Amino acid sequence: MANWRATVLTLFPEMFPGPLGMSLAGKGLASGIWSLEAANIRAQAVDKHGTVDDTPAGGGPGLIMKADVLARAIDAVATDDRPRLLMSPRGTPLTQARVAALAKGSGVLVVCGRYEGIDERVIAARQLEEVSIGDYVLSGGEIAAMALIDACVRLLPGVMGKEASGAEESFANGLLEYPQYTRPAAFEGRTIPEVLTGGDHAKVKAWRLAEAERLTRERRPDLWQAYLA
Ligand code: SAM
Repeated sequence: MANWRATVLTLFPEMFPGPLGMSLAGKGLASGIWSLEAANIRAQAVDKHGTVDDTPAGGGPGLIMKADVLARAIDAVATDDRPRLLMSPRGTPLTQARVAALAKGSGVLVVCGRYEGIDERVIAARQLEEVSIGDYVLSGGEIAAMALIDACVRLLPGVMGKEASGAEESFANGLLEYPQYTRPAAFEGRTIPEVLTGGDHAKVKAWRLAEAERLTRERRPDLWQAYLA
């Protein structure tokens, strides 16, 4: 079976595998469907203090991760042609389509920023692709990297199992997912829509599509317009 490889460059390697070691992703990791290496950027510092950052050129608050240290850290692990991603609020927003494309490849190399970010020059020098997980600012790239890796590994063959192919999930067909229910038949006076318990598969399918369309139209006009187009 293909071994999808995730290499994470971070100042906090002890944060990994963290949640990626649990549940379906964790089982896939343990069984060798995918592998994870968390490399410490600080190991590439050259001075005895292990310095990885410095003050911003031009002034301003915070610290910037040094280009030379980060470049060495990337060079130590970038031994193949996997995409080199930099988690960054400035990056291209991550989508399910991009996740699916990454999951089809051989893996990812992910750089996690900290502090005020990283020296711009290393982004160009090591051809890092900036990827954002949303329009908000985290204190570091590790949680963003975990989100990206988790979204990818659940799509790897053998990770989700037959019960969840992902084919009908939110975003898979450009729509949000329809509402889901399970037993008990009544919960605090609320019942399951009759169509779902009637046994008519064609009606169930039509109801689910109509609900997926309604939710997408109401909640995500951007996705709805793209779906119509
Ligand atoms: N000064 C930066 C800015 O304004 O764009 C923010 C730096 S943030 C405090 C530190 C690190 O967290 C970033 O370098 C990045 O790796 C990560 N990060 C923060 N928000 C993120 C997001 N929405 N998506 C991906 N990574 C993010």
